Amino acid sequence: MNKTDKQFIYLDNSATTPLYPEVLDAMLPYLTASYGNPSSLYPLGRKAHAAIEHTRSIIASLINASPEEIYFTSGATESNNWVFYMNADKKCLCTAIEHASVINQPNIFTFNVTQEGFVDTSMLDYTLMDNPFELVSTMLANNEIGSIQDIQTIGEICHKHNVKYHVDATQGLCYLPIDVKKSHIDYLSASAHKIHGPKGVGFLYINKDENKDISSDITPLMYGGGQEQGLRPGTENVAGIVGFGKAIEVMMQRREDDLQKLTKLRNYMHYQIMNTIDDVEINGTYDFDRRLPGNLNYCFADIKSDELVEMLSEKGIYCSTGSACHNGSGKPSHVLKAIGLTDKQAMSSVRFSLGPDLDKTDIDVVVQTVINCVYTLRKY
Ligand code: PMP
Repeated sequence: MNKTDKQFIYLDNSATTPLYPEVLDAMLPYLTASYGNPSSLYPLGRKAHAAIEHTRSIIASLINASPEEIYFTSGATESNNWVFYMNADKKCLCTAIEHASVINQPNIFTFNVTQEGFVDTSMLDYTLMDNPFELVSTMLANNEIGSIQDIQTIGEICHKHNVKYHVDATQGLCYLPIDVKKSHIDYLSASAHKIHGPKGVGFLYINKDENKDISSDITPLMYGGGQEQGLRPGTENVAGIVGFGKAIEVMMQRREDDLQKLTKLRNYMHYQIMNTIDDVEINGTYDFDRRLPGNLNYCFADIKSDELVEMLSEKGIYCSTGSACHNGSGKPSHVLKAIGLTDKQAMSSVRFSLGPDLDKTDIDVVVQTVINCVYTLRKY
């Protein structure tokens, strides 16, 4: 069926990523022989505890935080929820293109982004001048259209207005450098399964700078034992946390090469799509330097995106109609609507998120299959 010998070609890396083999190797001992509870005081427990602290240090140095500022969670959904739970009595502001775990919070107000999917920083500055917001939340990069926010400038604006800043870094962590201190970030959420680590593990960074006095707002989302400084109780997901640490180590070794490779492949695929298919528009920015390296999102006129995704899937090409949380909802994506698409255009849009395991042959197969499917669907 395909020119490659793969069973399928995976272009849904924004939904989740395959494990690096090194991650599985690092995790296995903690699912087998080293099964101790990290709270136990004998060597089996102490080994598990040490492994958790090792990952905590890896994360801390990745984002320029202190290890005590990192709390392990079950993923970015929980981390995001925790931030808003801690700030439940505050007036919070987020962009109109945030993930469901942010935008659906009860105490949130939204502000619009540009048609390319970026925060208009002058507008944000102006908004914060006039309104008593106490927390601003933006993504590092968008999961549907890949727009990368200027978190440095946004952080400076929040700092100037004495407003706390939360960054949902779930989608950017793999390829973008983060310095929480330099960017005045007070909370940062992330998840292992978007960086070739395991599912069900994430972290929340909480700024513990004494001058900022966030500490008085720190409250647990759940009550239980003393794990995670008594703030996130429950026996830790040891193997998952170990896998997260290993995924970061491998990601950092591969980052430059993967970035270059992905950018080239993505640009190649974009060129092919735009030059072979009529009536197709890219959603989001044309400025590919400000877009996640593997992200492409297109509106195919006169196509229903769920039909295209289904047809591609039958031919072994896996992509999506939008965010994984949105798939199958039958509703147009709030992200695409926020950047100005009509319902019809949003329902004709498909996201391809490439991974570094792909090569040019895969992309040739993908493009040819997309051409055939679009042709077939438009004919009937
Ligand atoms: N934020 C963003 C930007 C995401 O893309 C996702 C996952 N789709 C999440 C949060 C939720 O992450 P998790 O799956 O770890 O709960």
